Amino acid sequence: MVKYMHNMQRYNVASLIWQGLNKHKGWTRAWRSPPLKDRYEVIVIGAGGHGLATAYYLAKEHGITNVAVLERGWLGGGNIARNTVTVRSNYMRDASIPFYVKSVEMFEGLTDELNFNLMHSKRTMIDVVQTYPKMRELRRRQLTMDIYGSTYRQISEAELRRRVPALTGGGPDARLPVIGGMVHTDAGVNRHDAVAWGYARAIDAMGVDIHQQTAVTQLIRAQDGSIEGVETARGTVRADKVVVAVSGHTTTLTETAGLKLPLRTMNLTAFVSEPVKPLVDVIVNCPDSGFYFSQSDKGEMVIGGAPDMGQSFRRDIKQHVFEDTVTAMLSLFPSFKRLKLMRQWGGHLDIAHDASPIMDQTDVPGLFITAGWWGGYKAIPAGGLTLAHLVATGRPHPLMAPFTLSRFRHLDYVMETGTTTAR
Ligand SMILES: Cc1cc2nc3c(=O)[nH]c(=O)nc-3n(C[C@H](O)[C@H](O)[C@H](O)COP(=O)(O)OP(=O)(O)OC[C@H]3O[C@@H](n4cnc5c(N)ncnc54)[C@H](O)[C@@H]3O)c2cc1C
Repeated sequence: MVKYMHNMQRYNVASLIWQGLNKHKGWTRAWRSPPLKDRYEVIVIGAGGHGLATAYYLAKEHGITNVAVLERGWLGGGNIARNTVTVRSNYMRDASIPFYVKSVEMFEGLTDELNFNLMHSKRTMIDVVQTYPKMRELRRRQLTMDIYGSTYRQISEAELRRRVPALTGGGPDARLPVIGGMVHTDAGVNRHDAVAWGYARAIDAMGVDIHQQTAVTQLIRAQDGSIEGVETARGTVRADKVVVAVSGHTTTLTETAGLKLPLRTMNLTAFVSEPVKPLVDVIVNCPDSGFYFSQSDKGEMVIGGAPDMGQSFRRDIKQHVFEDTVTAMLSLFPSFKRLKLMRQWGGHLDIAHDASPIMDQTDVPGLFITAGWWGGYKAIPAGGLTLAHLVATGRPHPLMAPFTLSRFRHLDYVMETGTTTAR
């Protein structure tokens, strides 16, 4: 708990009992709706995970609190609300692994730090491997991960089936028989709303202004070309520094400042089943078949598949993507055919050509972006920490240094196959 969160009401057993005795009349608002000022030191566009986390570490690590977070809808209503909450660090590249190791570690301590229960459940991820090329690729990942202290271990098919008893398909006669598994014990899941709300409550207590229903329509540049501020649905707001943290909408916003970025926006989808009794206690990832799932605390199977390969801003699920994912899942988990599916949805995410993020200052002085977050939920704490460092000091944090925008000019890509569903 940082000392300057003086306004923040403590959430604990004692306060719950006390408020219960007082008929719950003493809870204070988790965050304010302050008036919109016409100038801030920093504007962060987007109250998703990355925007809120950046504002949090700007305030906490650098004492910069004259910050506005501008959100066109409601905070935490974007992709942070639409993802399948897998947090892991089994990536491929030297540039990526230490960054994700740090992020996973930060997630594990965030409940205490934010005084908000993120329900972080470090429950292990198991890859079900069905082809030898995939096994070789994952073993190669293991060798690099070993260097950075991330966990990855091969297990036999028998051990895999013991750990995941619902895996009854993929036998020797199957088109793609299961040949073994990889175990990543650092992986976990947590509660996405709590991550958004925990960061939001903390930044509000440190004096950062969150403005919901405040869409940014245009980035404004000064005569010398540097950033001057933003045009919003509620008027002009000026700032010396502007951070674009709008996920799949990055290009639509940066184009208003004349910037073209090496990003595509694509649709990724998920769906959940009815709640059932505890059946699977790990995250199961099936990279050869193109789906993954975990069981939520309520008992629902939370299932994700491969992306729709066309570029789009859709937020629903295409029938063929849905059918492909279900077909693949039933081939390995035939008993799931009795599950009723309750909800399905999609989100639109931006992805760079090398499937790695971009966290950098742009060619427009004072304008920063955090983008290309294909699997960016797991990256929220480290993404916020490192981008805040760059915004506050003007120097890249060592953990984010490879994720520059200029790598595309110099063909210095971070080709990341650990972004599971990207192809
Ligand atoms: C189906 C699905 C499953 C996923 N599963 C995982 C997973 O298991 N693990 C993982 O690590 N990642 C996963 N992801 C990816 C992850 O959700 C995203 O990478 C991450 O949430 C993106 O960062 P964010 O939270 O800041 O984005 P968002 O929550 O989308 O935040 C951006 C915010 O900007 C706002 N905004 C947009 N335009 C404007 C504007 N003009 N003015 C003001 N505000 C604006 C939006 O309303 C939004 O609130 C998944 C994504 C999807 C869709």
